[in-house]
Amino acid sequence: MTDMDVLLQKKISASFDGKTPAPSLPALCHNLLAEQKASWPDLSLGYKALASVQVKELRCNGFSVRLHHNPGRIKSTTAPLDQKSIEKRPCFLCLENLPEPQRGILYRGDFIVLCNPFPICPEHFTIAQIMHCPQSFEGMVSKFLKMAKDFSPDFNVFYNGPESGASAPDHLHFQATSRGVLPIEEEIKDRTRLEFVKCIHSTSLFRARHLGREVIILEGEDCTTIGDALTNIVSAMKSVLASPAEPRMNLFCSYAGNRWQVMIFPRQRHRPSVYFLPGDERILISPGMVEMGGIIITPIGKDFDRVHEELIRTIYAEVSVDEETVQKISAALPF
Ligand SMILES: [Zn+2]
Repeated sequence: MTDMDVLLQKKISASFDGKTPAPSLPALCHNLLAEQKASWPDLSLGYKALASVQVKELRCNGFSVRLHHNPGRIKSTTAPLDQKSIEKRPCFLCLENLPEPQRGILYRGDFIVLCNPFPICPEHFTIAQIMHCPQSFEGMVSKFLKMAKDFSPDFNVFYNGPESGASAPDHLHFQATSRGVLPIEEEIKDRTRLEFVKCIHSTSLFRARHLGREVIILEGEDCTTIGDALTNIVSAMKSVLASPAEPRMNLFCSYAGNRWQVMIFPRQRHRPSVYFLPGDERILISPGMVEMGGIIITPIGKDFDRVHEELIRTIYAEVSVDEETVQKISAALPF
């Protein structure tokens, strides 16, 4: 047995291979969370802190966001993402660096489902690849869709690009959160917000409107065609946004009623200008998928008090691409 096998054995409390119908992945996740809250004090503290998060709803002329004052998220919001800082710190998603009490579910042999110690909702998991590889969506399309199906019906899964909110850009990971937590999930149920763009075989492509930020939506029942459409959109984004590496993006996927729905948030910037203001003027908001989905996390109390509707609109306009860019992305598709 290699050292990795020994470590893996120690850290795995259950496994899911998709072959045995029961227990389901959501059932394993509920169990893991209950066990870990009992055996890992920092996790239990993280969930206690979540229970006292202050929440405020902001109506931003056509859409709503929920502001969360969540001091526990400070590390994630202010994570230094430059190469030098990353190289200096031990990777917090590698098995050998996980806190001693932390355990996880081996997922289809190459990922581990872990409880996120800084939760944003009642059940929040990080799905980290076992091997330490940079955050990249390349080659991950069918894995991502499969994951969404495996985590259904209780959870959705999402991906933060390495320059779009991932606090570990050096280690490939996804996240799963309780279904229905993000305001945008409810907002896009209103079909009048969706502008039909085109049909790609059995997959429909929409653009969501009046949300203050751009969202491309794919819906379909066939894993292969929706996967192809997603791959093509990411390539089109790469060429339109002239990205040398992966285009800046957040991806969210849900699976219900035999149907996948993928939300793609093309980004032009990671952090808004208020993040870089000097001294007291600085506002610590660092948008990843959660923020693009309508939960704006402010770890600092005074930011929670002073963030207003107009600022949210400005932040979205700065970090999202504009409508014209989405039209170019759509025009660049090969179908
Ligand atoms: Zn790592």
